[in-house]
Amino acid sequence: MSEELKKEEGSISIHTENIFPIIKKWLYSDKDIFLRELVSNAVDAIHKLQNINLMEGLKLADEYKVDIHIDKEAGTLTVADNGIGMTAEEVRKYINQVAFSSAEDFVERFKDLEDKNQIIGHFGLGFYSSFMVAETVEIRTLSYQKDVEAVHWRCEGTTNYSIEATDKKERGTEIILHLNDDEKEFLETDAVSEVLKKFCNFLPVSINLEGEVINDKNPLWTKSASEISDDEYKEFYRKLYPMSADPLFWIHLNIDFPFNLKGIVYFPRLTNEFDVTKSHISLFCNQVFVSDNTPELIPEFLTPLQGCLDAPDLPLNVSRSYLQNDPQVRKIREVISGRVASKIVDLAKNDREAFEPIWEDIHSFVKYGMMREDKFYEKVKDQVIYHATGDDKYTTLPDYLDRAKEKHENKVYYSNDEGTQATYLKLFKSQGMEALILDAMIDNHFIQFLESKNTDLKFERVDSDITENLIEADPSQKIVDGSDNKTKGDKIEELFKENLDIKGLTIRIETLKDDSVPGMILLNEQSRRFKEMTSMMGQGEMPDMFSDHTLMVNTASPAVDKVLKLQEDGDTESVGMLIDQIYDLAMLSHQAISKERMAGFLERSGKLLGMI
Ligand code: ADP
Repeated sequence: MSEELKKEEGSISIHTENIFPIIKKWLYSDKDIFLRELVSNAVDAIHKLQNINLMEGLKLADEYKVDIHIDKEAGTLTVADNGIGMTAEEVRKYINQVAFSSAEDFVERFKDLEDKNQIIGHFGLGFYSSFMVAETVEIRTLSYQKDVEAVHWRCEGTTNYSIEATDKKERGTEIILHLNDDEKEFLETDAVSEVLKKFCNFLPVSINLEGEVINDKNPLWTKSASEISDDEYKEFYRKLYPMSADPLFWIHLNIDFPFNLKGIVYFPRLTNEFDVTKSHISLFCNQVFVSDNTPELIPEFLTPLQGCLDAPDLPLNVSRSYLQNDPQVRKIREVISGRVASKIVDLAKNDREAFEPIWEDIHSFVKYGMMREDKFYEKVKDQVIYHATGDDKYTTLPDYLDRAKEKHENKVYYSNDEGTQATYLKLFKSQGMEALILDAMIDNHFIQFLESKNTDLKFERVDSDITENLIEADPSQKIVDGSDNKTKGDKIEELFKENLDIKGLTIRIETLKDDSVPGMILLNEQSRRFKEMTSMMGQGEMPDMFSDHTLMVNTASPAVDKVLKLQEDGDTESVGMLIDQIYDLAMLSHQAISKERMAGFLERSGKLLGMI
């Protein structure tokens, strides 16, 4: 062991002449990662020493740390650790041989490969990534082993290296990079600090830059959830995303089996600036930052999730194509989806006060998740809440159906626009009936989805039909009236049909329990849905939702009585005006009155006002 080290010079491998230009050219765009690689190696060297300490009961250092030092004059950047160090033999083995053993293979196989990250990991080129920014690299290292000499290795970016003894006294390794002229930015503390903050922010060993610790050795996810307060979770969130409002909820993962996964993911408060289509999770591997673009780790419907995931079983230099095909990544997605579902169930059952306000922000994602993943659907289905008309409270579907059982079993009335459907909602309210407000983009699909899941269940928009509950049981319009054997209803129907010559219009006569509305437009649920569907399929123009529609005339309304009265008086002009007015008002409430009819409506309204 202690035999003296003579200076030796050698050539890394006869087949590797091409390696340096390739490293430089291919890895260039990601050149910052050389710092991650060197600091990770330093941390690994410290871990190895800590393990040896544990096993052999040694105590070789009071404090383990990585020091990064800039020497502007010399043009060098040094990464030093007080870890395990290397003997000359180890330098030969790990630096000279390992890295280049398969270099020839490397050049052949990966000539055309796009994914640079994969190359580095695959070929153990971590250390050699320093040649992306440095022409000459030196290693000064002293192994923890007894009676060994310190070693000085030097390589000037060719395939030649030298190894000789040196006088380094402290155990550990220094990697000295003589930076290329066009990489002088790494002589600026701020620039180096920025890169370190990105890759090394949560490393488990102190990382010092020019004597200042820059990292958080114990990020919150490494602690046990039971020791962490809500405020600490929020504070950690603010540290990660300083400009954001408090998150809506979070999940702390701490899984050992069947794979290792730690992390905290947050559901953010969504603002217009927040990109819900982009991945926001930072992936770590034993606290080493890997990537912040790993949408594969999160179920698609949870893309807005932010936070950190530490998956030590995934390789450090994980590539996108690797993630896409890895069964473990699929399991991670399943775990996250399951935990989010449990969190929703927990909030809904145990903290309704917190749950209701966040529902507005999350419901589209939850509904989408239910449609995409059956397991997720099964878990959360009874916790989905809906705004119900009536007392302005939220309700679950089972509760709604239970309350509605007597009046309309298995039928859900809904409104997708409280404004244009106000008349209908008022009628519902006056008869003590509830409708659900389903006015989000996703709700159309969600309704269809719920119907497909529960075949007994039917959703009907409030304006699609008039339910029996709103109709008088014993209507006077059915009573035969006068000598002509016609009921009141027949007469009204005749008059409306004669006066309204409108394509696709059907007249229907009912006596409502409420007399305040003379007429309402009804749009059949199925045909309306069909039109919506064809318009979704992008046939260009919006279909005319009113190409067939029903005017329901309410014989309980005094205005309709007036029509009959005027007819009996022979005032056919006023009959016509009144009928047009009733129809236009009904269309108006749908914001569906045509331009042509609008002019007539306004003129007529003026006239009618003058008659009062
Ligand atoms: P990898 O880290 O993927 O093994 P590297 O090329 O980065 O590949 O490093 C090769 C080997 O050199 C490491 O496995 C380790 O044995 C040794 N090594 C590199 N840096 C250090 C260091 N700072 N201290 C001790 N050994 C090191």
